Amino acid sequence: MERVLLKELNMKSRDEAISFLKALWDQKSVNCPVCGSRLELLHKKAKKSDCDWQCRNCEKTFKTIHLLDEINEQMPLRGRTILLE
Ligand SMILES: [Zn+2]
Repeated sequence: MERVLLKELNMKSRDEAISFLKALWDQKSVNCPVCGSRLELLHKKAKKSDCDWQCRNCEKTFKTIHLLDEINEQMPLRGRTILLE
């Protein structure tokens, strides 16, 4: 199984991406943003915020820590201001 990338999830905003991650961390029943199948918990780790999920239909793993890194890189909290002179 491959790790899913943030861009594959079609998240429209940082808020949407973060609330998806929060649902995973809270171990709610979450559907795959790509295909709509129910995600399954892959490993339960000691740290709640480090849990991994999988979608059997897409054959992807959802590593929440990696997704969080990608969100922070690609969807920074403060939008970059483009200055036009
Ligand atoms: Zn899927």
